[in-house]
Amino acid sequence: MPRPITAAIDLAAMRHNLAVAKNRAPGARVWAVVKANAYGHGLERGMRGFSEADGLALIEVEGAVSLREMGWKKPILLLEGFFEFADLNVVAEHDVQVAVHCDEQIAMIERARLAMPIDVHLKMNSGMNRLGFKPDVYRDAYARLRNIPAVRSLTLMTHFANADDTDNPGLPLAEQIRRFQAGAAGLTDERSLFNSAADLMPPDVHTDWVRPGIMLYGGTPGGKSAEEFGLRPAMTLTSEIIGVQSVESGDALGYGSRFIAGKPMKIGVVACGYADGYPRHAPNGTPVIVEGRRTQIVGRVSMDMITVDLSDIPGAAIGSKVILWGEGLPIDEVANAAGTIGYELMCALAPRVRTVERNDARQ
Ligand SMILES: *Cc1c(COP(=O)(O)O)cnc(C)c1O
Repeated sequence: MPRPITAAIDLAAMRHNLAVAKNRAPGARVWAVVKANAYGHGLERGMRGFSEADGLALIEVEGAVSLREMGWKKPILLLEGFFEFADLNVVAEHDVQVAVHCDEQIAMIERARLAMPIDVHLKMNSGMNRLGFKPDVYRDAYARLRNIPAVRSLTLMTHFANADDTDNPGLPLAEQIRRFQAGAAGLTDERSLFNSAADLMPPDVHTDWVRPGIMLYGGTPGGKSAEEFGLRPAMTLTSEIIGVQSVESGDALGYGSRFIAGKPMKIGVVACGYADGYPRHAPNGTPVIVEGRRTQIVGRVSMDMITVDLSDIPGAAIGSKVILWGEGLPIDEVANAAGTIGYELMCALAPRVRTVERNDARQ
């Protein structure tokens, strides 16, 4: 008997969410972001779920090669570019496009004698201060790349720090857009802006490509709910009650005795713990669904188990179905209760969790 914890991956939801992303960015082509094993959904499933995307974007060179080996013919983009000199031949050979964010990468391309041309996405640091060239040196980097015969095309790329929080005083989105436009002024190459956040709230800015990630999996980056945008959860994590305890007022639960019952309670033990990817820091009160009824976790998350309050769910017993997140319980809500974001929960889904695929066309 397999342990009852299962992640159901809904390919129809992924296709649906991609269509939503396309509708929100009319006229732009879409890189479906499949980094981190397609946000925990599986790279190969990402490839099939997003077969209608214009390209797939990820981080690892090996992942890009796998996509080619699995038959993906359309563009592939490495969002951080290549990491070492030897990668360059691999990306050229597999026709993988690369972000270029630093002089060291340009020097490597200059030094390489590439048999095939490459397409480069020149990354601007428009204020996030992570990767990229500052606006004032952007044109120099551009000119250097333009001089390399093996560079077939250049795309102008930047990433926004606060696309989900346009009023952020640290760096307003409008200011970042202004810096990008100033740094790229006069350059007529295609532009690639916007992750899911800006996609969900499109400012009036021209872009040729958008790069949605989280929304394709049915999550949102900001405080809004995915349902508001018509997005459907691509991952539903379920398990079962494997033990039931009756506790009296004053009884303590689990490690650290974090929860002390204030009244007689019925407690369910669920086969799901932090070794499955459930956040260990989830506090008492984090929502969970048992037998279709919403309840909450009580007590500390252990490696293989959590404990939940069944006091108001009389029908609950060993074998009762539990939904940890997904359909009926937005992952963003669980993440929020646990002080994190849906991204982290998806990406942390542990390899030991069995995944099954669903492919129904329900809307
Ligand atoms: C991860 C990533 C994205 C996608 O971000 P989401 O917030 O998941 O939509 C887009 N662009 C770049 C450069 C990224 O690294």
